[in-house]
Amino acid sequence: MGKVKAVSSKSINYDVAVIGAGPQGLLFATWLKIERPSLNVVVLDGAESPGYKIGESTLSGFCRAMRSTGIRHEVLQRLFYTKNGLGFFYLDTNTTDLQTAPEYITEAFDETFQVERRTCDSLLVANAKRVGVSVLWSHRVKPNKSVFSAGANRLECKTPWGHAAINACFVVDASGPSSVLGRHFGGYCTANVPFQASAAWAYFKNVKWLDEYQGWQNTAGFPRDEYTQHICFKEGWVWYIPIVSWQKATDDNLMKMLSYLASPDSPMLTRDELSQKFDCPYEQIWSIGIVLRSDRDRVLSQGSQAAFEHYKCKLPTLTMLLDGAEILKDHYPNHNPYAVRKNFRRYARQITGDGWLLIGDAAFFVDPLRSPGLTGGVATAYYALQEVLDALDEGNLSRSRFERYEAYVWDLYEMLEEQNQIAYMSHNHPQAISLVRRFGEVSSRDHFNSVCNKPYTMEDTNVWGHLRPEHRQRQRLVWQIMREEEIEVGNRCPIDEQKPRDYERMMFRLRQAIGDHLDRHMNLTPYIMRNKREQTKLAPLEVVPRPHWVHPA
Ligand SMILES: Cc1cc2nc3c(=O)[nH]c(=O)nc-3n(C[C@H](O)[C@H](O)[C@H](O)COP(=O)(O)OP(=O)(O)OC[C@H]3O[C@@H](n4cnc5c(N)ncnc54)[C@H](O)[C@@H]3O)c2cc1C
Repeated sequence: MGKVKAVSSKSINYDVAVIGAGPQGLLFATWLKIERPSLNVVVLDGAESPGYKIGESTLSGFCRAMRSTGIRHEVLQRLFYTKNGLGFFYLDTNTTDLQTAPEYITEAFDETFQVERRTCDSLLVANAKRVGVSVLWSHRVKPNKSVFSAGANRLECKTPWGHAAINACFVVDASGPSSVLGRHFGGYCTANVPFQASAAWAYFKNVKWLDEYQGWQNTAGFPRDEYTQHICFKEGWVWYIPIVSWQKATDDNLMKMLSYLASPDSPMLTRDELSQKFDCPYEQIWSIGIVLRSDRDRVLSQGSQAAFEHYKCKLPTLTMLLDGAEILKDHYPNHNPYAVRKNFRRYARQITGDGWLLIGDAAFFVDPLRSPGLTGGVATAYYALQEVLDALDEGNLSRSRFERYEAYVWDLYEMLEEQNQIAYMSHNHPQAISLVRRFGEVSSRDHFNSVCNKPYTMEDTNVWGHLRPEHRQRQRLVWQIMREEEIEVGNRCPIDEQKPRDYERMMFRLRQAIGDHLDRHMNLTPYIMRNKREQTKLAPLEVVPRPHWVHPA
């Protein structure tokens, strides 16, 4: 294990302890064990076993990370519903069907998945155990009673049988929104951003498949159910995610099936064969949620169901989507049928300390719009891995050793936060959605093409290539334009009265700023290539349109 020695020889002593058996903690621990098989690595989780969590839509970066730990792509295909990209519709109160609504699709870079988290997290547990990581359930870390010190941490855990102490040279906090160390040291804050966002969601069965609707205007590369669909409107957006649910499988049977699948030598069976062999029933359900800007929505304060009802009435297309669908009230135990998470944009003030650091949501969380959570989180886990490996070798686990990691996390957080605000502001105009999506996609696909045939490396921590200076520069400009225009329109017109035409000047300025760049990289946006009528040039128009609110004297 390099120069750092374990704190004592008892079996409760570990070289590295990870708090939280979510995807980031498990991937970090698995990578660490693969890289340094001699290290004793433990993952502690306060829950009794992997259970229900939100966060169902994955992107290439996260699936690449899973595969890099030995999980076979075919296993993901057996367990989960295929996702081939991200679809976006623009709705206003006059839109009556999705088929004719303005649409943009970020087509898949490669096949990804819509996952049920109990199954996904359990697969990562089975894989972590396969490589020799210890996973201890029902171990809730109590930071107030613990000692944190480089090379000699002592974690006090509450267990059903009393208490347990875990000694570890280094601690990685991957406790998600609990941010155990983030809250203990400096606090886990609601971000100081122009707007917060909140989500309300529920699970349904008997939703009509999107592909059964007739009359789609544009051509998509895959059936529309195989995208995470985003139905966008000025107050927020709705997610539509078909899921293969294994919820009715017992913990024991599910774990047996996943341990079988995690083993690289197990013959690959079909989903039905697996279901039969391990007595794990599965069924088709839908996750549908509404995410709302706190500066624009006034309904969520009345409850999650009230928000669903309100936006269904306001946007006829949502009524169409949920027509005949049946809400699942008891599908997930201890889960409110209409769940809610309010003001979820958060960050930890302190990311590293003497003998510890934060990864994943424990460090920060921005927003589910376009599914960056798991992919951004896994980039922090991999970056942290490299730093921890070097620090262990150098025998220096003090905070100052992790300055570079801390700077990386802030940079990533800032980029994602700015990018996310841009995405919400694009809901002010149907063409802005497509323009902003294309802007992100050009850099993402270019980056993906450069890494896809290589093993998982530090290049993968440059999330979608969006940390490249030239992308950051353009992104800042786009953010500035959109923010200025949103403030200006907002000063003149309350949100309920705002119309896309109020944002014509914003569109002009955006085309001027990035239209030429997008025109030049049309080959990186397959949806535009596939649909001729979307191929109109974006580069500057001749005259700046006068905002409609400026009346002639
Ligand atoms: C409404 C909503 C929708 C989302 N949708 C998506 C999406 O579609 N795609 C996406 O990529 N992301 C999405 N996310 C984000 C995603 O859920 C998170 O990024 C992801 O779950 C974070 O993984 P993690 O490993 O950091 O933490 P988690 O998965 O939260 O794991 C943390 C673990 O720590 C354990 N823990 C907590 N406290 C303690 C303690 N004191 N001691 C021991 N263990 C502890 C918990 O039991 C848990 O198992 C969404 C988030 C929200 C709020």
